[in-house]
Formats: sequence, structure tokens, C-alpha cells
Amino acid sequence: MDNKEKTEGKKLEEELFNNKKSGWEKSSEEDKKIILKFSDEYIKFLNKSKTEREFVKSAKAVLDANGYKDIKTVESIKAGDKVYCINREKSMYIAVIGNKKLEEGLNLVGAHIDSPRLDLKPNALYEDSGFAYFNTHYYGGIKTYQWTTIPLSLHGVIVKTNGEKIEVNIGEEESDPIFTITDLLPHLAREQMQKKLGEGIDGEDLNLLIGNIPYNDEAVGEKVKLNIMKILNEKYGIKEADFLSSELELVPAFKARSLGFDGSMVAGYGQDDKVCAYTSLRAVMEANVQNKTAVCILSDKEEVGSMGNTGMMSEVFDHFVSELLNKSGENRPDLLKKVFCNSSMLSADVGTAYDPIYASVSDRTNSAFASYGVSFDKYTGSRGKAGGSDANAEFIGKIRGILEKNNISYQISELGRVDVGGGGTIAYILANKGIEVIDCGVPVLSMHSPYEVTSKFDVYSAYRTYKAFYEEM
Ligand code: MN
Ligand code: MN
Repeated sequence: MDNKEKTEGKKLEEELFNNKKSGWEKSSEEDKKIILKFSDEYIKFLNKSKTEREFVKSAKAVLDANGYKDIKTVESIKAGDKVYCINREKSMYIAVIGNKKLEEGLNLVGAHIDSPRLDLKPNALYEDSGFAYFNTHYYGGIKTYQWTTIPLSLHGVIVKTNGEKIEVNIGEEESDPIFTITDLLPHLAREQMQKKLGEGIDGEDLNLLIGNIPYNDEAVGEKVKLNIMKILNEKYGIKEADFLSSELELVPAFKARSLGFDGSMVAGYGQDDKVCAYTSLRAVMEANVQNKTAVCILSDKEEVGSMGNTGMMSEVFDHFVSELLNKSGENRPDLLKKVFCNSSMLSADVGTAYDPIYASVSDRTNSAFASYGVSFDKYTGSRGKAGGSDANAEFIGKIRGILEKNNISYQISELGRVDVGGGGTIAYILANKGIEVIDCGVPVLSMHSPYEVTSKFDVYSAYRTYKAFYEEM
């Protein structure tokens, strides 16, 4: 219908209403190619970066290849310099120095690179009824039943008393074995099936099946356990006590893949929050940083409250910014606080995508839809915004201006119906320092499950948002 045929009401509706539309409908064939290619690269990165340590390693490799330097190795910094700081192999801070003085503030994008998973307990290995098992303790908010009867791979490090560190990554290659957690057959599960979903699988029963061949010696008590320990000793040179100083994580062994006949989506483990981490990393590396210094935060421990020396609450981040001030020659007493008060940030974390199968938990009008673009949460928290970080309207107005100028699709949403639930991110931690912050990330289906789903349109839209923010905020 061309403009002549439109009624007055129709024209007014188009002018005044916030018309929400799938991003695919607004994309040209050329745009679609770019969007799909970006997600192909994202999928490749995700498949070699399933844990926080692996993400840091992958990120360091691309940063090193692109002229970024470890801040510890540089004496001074000036506009155009690119530096990073790795915090205990689990979190990292990256900066591209702008032309403006640091005291005028930073433009930050912060994501987290830890994801829900199963960790091995310190005393993990045991034998029962001819099977060897690892005891686990889950990390972050999971639905325990989702972690049985799927292939799991083991990732992490074992540190020996002499400081030697053994890296473990087993279950990703076709030739590797995988591990799994068993569940009860339906034939005998009548009692189990009557339990509430949340109680169906007890966290204590998430025991990983790892072996079944006994060591052939009648004098030995735990023969299967001994045989496993012998294999581990030959492969890694470890004894059972070395597990006491290890960090071993179980993650789904399956690969991230393109989803749907139309290839419109990404299915993969750990997209919360590696989808925002990857897009912010790409953005900081590809942005044309002119004015304010661009900083990308890849933090750890978000899924368990951001505590500890690698979480967002860690003062190691403040120390990194102080080092930027020191090495640029700008520093003077209390300047760090001024830097924070002049800074702006996108807290890059995933949100929930409206799922029509579970429509009852959402307010449709305030939901984020997959493929409608990057999603902002003005506030987080739950039941009356309790514990939430609430972005200021002035700040949101400014960001909307940047997005609309750059023709970037976005939506502003809430995590669910008012009294249903809620959640938090790292936003409040930075907001408490005086930084203007808003949550902004990719909407996800099946969040915190072993196989999360995102729209490739939204992945690309997040990248464009973070890049535009670095260039224009
Ligand atoms: Mn998250
Ligand atoms: Mn999460």
C-alpha cells in the first residue's frame, strides 16, 4: 500500500506508535549474509571457549595477534594504545586509550564469562558397586534434571604441590571419551515421577560415571577406582590427593550449532554470558575509538554473586583503572573516583526471550522477542525491583539517540511478570561506583540449560550496539 492509500489513522499510527518488528524483516539480503557470517565466527569461538579460563585464553590469543599488550609490560600509555590485564586466568580487562583524558570518564562494556555448570568436589573420586564416579557440586542456578543423561566433558586445571599445572580438556574431540550422569528408567520411576520437578534429581545425586573396569588384583579393595587412578596417573602424572588443588568443571560435550531450517539461531552451551562477552570483545577490538577510552570487562563468578578476587566486586578492576591513570601520567589523589563518576557502561548480560510455550510467566507487552534486536533492562531485581540496579532516564535517552542514529534494532524489556521472579547482573556493582549503567544483552531461550538458544540477528545487533557505544558515547 503506498502512502496515498493510507488513511489518516493509519498514518498517525505509524508515526506515533512504537512499532516492534522482527529484525530479519528489516534486513536486506546483504545484511543477512553479514549477520550469518558473524555468528559462524561466534560459534567457532564458543566451541573452544566453554569455561572462563578457556575464554580468557582464546581472548588473549586474538588480542596478542592484534597488537594488544599486557599492561604489566608497558611503562607508559598514550592515545591509541591497546592494553589488557588478565586476573588469575579467569577474568580480564581490556582498554583502548582514547584521545580524551581518562578523568573525563571511560566507556565500559562489561560481560561475564562464567556459566552454570557442575564442578568436581575436592574429594571427587569414589567407587560404588563396580562403577567409578566423580562427586560434583553444581555452580550457579541450574535445573538439576537437565544435567542427567547428556554427554559431559571435563575442563580445568590440576595444580601439584610443586606448582606444576596440568590443563585438562577431555570429551571435546571425537576420539575422546565423554562422561554422563545416569537417571532412573521410567519403568521404576513411579515414585520419582510424582516428585516436584525441582526435587526430581537431588543435587547430591549428580554423580558422574567415569569407569567400570576393575584392577586385576584380589588384594585391592577398590579395584575400579584404582584402575581409574592408574590411568590418570599415566596420563597426567597425578595422585588422588592432587584433586585437592584442582578446579575441574563439567560442561555439556556437545558443540554449539546453527539452529533451524533457516539457520536463524544459535544453539549452544554457555551463551549466558559468552554471547555478550564475544560481542563486546569484537566491539572493543573493531571500534574506531576516538574520544573516551574504551574498556571491555570479562568478569568471572557472576553466576554465584560476583564475589571473590576474580568476580566483578574484586578491587583488581579498580587497580587496572588506577594503572591506566598511573601509566598515562594523569594520576593524582582520588582521581579514580572522578573517573568512575564520569563513566558510562553497558552491562552486557543476556536477558530472557519471550517463549510462547511458557507465555504465562511473561508480560507480553514488556517482553524481549528473539530477533527483535539487543534488549535493554532499565532495571533488574525482583518483586518491587528489590535489589535491582535502575538506569537513569537521561542515560537511556542518550543511548536511544545513538542506536536510532545508527539504525540499530533494540528493545527495552523486563525479565518476567512482576511477582514471578527476577534476577541480577554485575550492573549494580559498577553503578555503586557512580558509573551510569544499563543492562543490555542478547535475549536467550532456555537460559542456564545445557543448550541455550539465541537469534543470530540479536547477536549481531549486540555487537553493533557495543561498537556504536564505544564510538559515540
Ligand atoms: Mn548472565
Ligand atoms: Mn546467568
